[in-house]
Amino acid sequence: MRVLVTGANGFIGTALLPRLKKAGHETIAPSRLDYDLLEQARVRALFRDVQADTVIHLAARVGGIMANKAYPGEFIYQNMGMNTIFLEEARRAGVKRLIYSFCGCSFGKNAPNPIKEEYLFREGGLPDENAMFYSLGKAANHLQLVAYRRQHGLDWVSLIPGNAYGPHDNFSEKNSHVIPGLMRRFHFAKERGDKQVEVWGSGKPVRDFVYVDDVADAFVLALDKHHEELPINVSSGVGVSIRETAEAVAEAVGFEGKIAWDSSKPDGHMAKVFDTKRMRRILGFNPRVGLKEGIRKTYDWFAANQGKARL
Ligand code: GDP
Repeated sequence: MRVLVTGANGFIGTALLPRLKKAGHETIAPSRLDYDLLEQARVRALFRDVQADTVIHLAARVGGIMANKAYPGEFIYQNMGMNTIFLEEARRAGVKRLIYSFCGCSFGKNAPNPIKEEYLFREGGLPDENAMFYSLGKAANHLQLVAYRRQHGLDWVSLIPGNAYGPHDNFSEKNSHVIPGLMRRFHFAKERGDKQVEVWGSGKPVRDFVYVDDVADAFVLALDKHHEELPINVSSGVGVSIRETAEAVAEAVGFEGKIAWDSSKPDGHMAKVFDTKRMRRILGFNPRVGLKEGIRKTYDWFAANQGKARL
């Protein structure tokens, strides 16, 4: 297939591109400098210029819990603005096959665990309020995709990656997700010889982490195997508390000081562990990289590439 990947230079895109090529696909990875996806005329030009038959749409404005809290307006506008235009222009360009990278934070904040895909819009009330503007925006564009499937008969699908982490993630102080955020903090604390590092919230929330290479493998498999309206969760299905996560990151980094919990920062969704039965049944896929190994690989990369890491 001739696959257009948006967000190809981002976190998941960087892992996905070599895998698509290895699977024999031709890849098109436009730069956001050439094609601003918030400009409808540029998106139309993109589809005209590249003539893709298949699209993997990863581009998004993303960030961790505090970035979502700090920039709700940017998160909702940039994601909904881009996605609404992008999906419509893909339809007009005659793209028959498209995978949308959707998000696990769109499930209701009280949805039972493990979270099955059919709970979407049905169980657990609204998404967690800290990331609600991002989550509901992403959900609205998933609905746009569903609407286009139903009205126009397009084979467009969504995947829901769990809490992805790995090399090429955003390692910034405030805007990153928990694993890269803590890795950076422990790393520099160790360098400075600090005795204590602050970690956000209570340590009690439970997350389901998935290594970025596993997410990328699932996207490649989904090109052949996923044709359903209902999204597929792509995650480990294993719940780990933030406390255990912080301890595992501290150990990998070699930070031996104290972990202090900063209760002024939000916990967010308390328990977000995904049901992975459909992933295993439909994609025939099981993640390969466990959390300890994944944290070690991520830290090896971070330590070797601080210049390249998005700090
Ligand atoms: P979420 O799954 O959307 O909440 O994604 P995050 O990765 O941003 O946060 C996961 C959990 O880790 C939340 O309960 C945070 O409060 C907690 N956490 C603890 N320390 C940090 C940190 O330094 N950065 C981030 N992003 N989260 C942290």
